[in-house]
Amino acid sequence: QAKEDGRNSMKFFDPQMQANISARAVLEEELHLAVERQQFELYYQVQMSQDNIPLGAEALIRWNHPQRGLVSPLEFIPLAEQNGSIVEIGQWVLKTACRQLQAWQQHAATKELTLSINVSAKQFHQDSFVRKVRAAVNRFAINPRLLKLELTESLLLDNIENTIAKMRELSMLGIQFSLDDFGTGYSSLQYLKQLPLYQLKIDKSFVDDLVTDDSDQEIVRTIIAMAHSLGLSVIAEGVETEQQQLRLYNEGCTYYQGYLFGRPETLEAYELRVKKIHKAEC
Ligand code: C2E
Ligand code: MG
Ligand code: MG
Ligand code: MG
Repeated sequence: QAKEDGRNSMKFFDPQMQANISARAVLEEELHLAVERQQFELYYQVQMSQDNIPLGAEALIRWNHPQRGLVSPLEFIPLAEQNGSIVEIGQWVLKTACRQLQAWQQHAATKELTLSINVSAKQFHQDSFVRKVRAAVNRFAINPRLLKLELTESLLLDNIENTIAKMRELSMLGIQFSLDDFGTGYSSLQYLKQLPLYQLKIDKSFVDDLVTDDSDQEIVRTIIAMAHSLGLSVIAEGVETEQQQLRLYNEGCTYYQGYLFGRPETLEAYELRVKKIHKAEC
């Protein structure tokens, strides 16, 4: 008994652990304030069609932290999901994306560009989610077909009935759904066919070694066949080399996203990119 108490108090007074806990508490607190302090920014990563025409972009959030600098979403999104601030952050992303689509509608070079946003589970499963999306689409008077929502397999798997109902309502508005990180979850064909999806997004982990790994090639082939048999579009993420793109193209994947085409970049850089290509097209 004494020994056990000793171990517990040792743990409690471990200064390193204590420091980690308070650093995390500070970060969580700052996360709650970051929306109102206007510390978030969307970066845009171009999505390409096979003929090298930009279709649009995926919006990827960045946190401009006053001391830490640019913080990656890989670091703060999981934290935001745990402490609930993701709901507020997700709402900021939705509004910012719709405001941006509205601005793009005013110019010939940008008015057909789509914008994908990532939606987290907590955000999607709120009762008010459909209402919030509809309100944002209406407020900014955007063409809902240009707004894409990226969902993950794990998000879809919990509360399937409710999920399908929400997706249907949003699809009826014209909004399109892309299934992100596809292949890393457990979706069966039986289950996928019930969902009003527009697109499957092949996870980067299968694209990485596509050129050298036969089993990855087989997986990619299967995903593309699945997408096509379900009547879905397919896009690959994490495309870094021309060999990967060529392989994907030969397997029937005609949309791509990755460093080969462009990294996530600021609004200004992204607009410059699409305007340049638009000019060359005209
Ligand atoms: P994701 O949605 O799967 O986004 C793709 C990630 O892969 C992005 O990382 C992107 O920068 C990176 N990427 C794209 N192409 C390449 C490539 O060719 N090579 C390599 N090495 N990486 C590439 P990022 O921006 O760090 O975002 C990480 C994750 O954070 C996202 O994964 C998404 O799950 C989450 N996330 C980002 N923004 C948001 C957001 O606004 N809301 C929510 N809920 N999650 C977000
Ligand atoms: Mg995504
Ligand atoms: Mg992804
Ligand atoms: Mg991914």
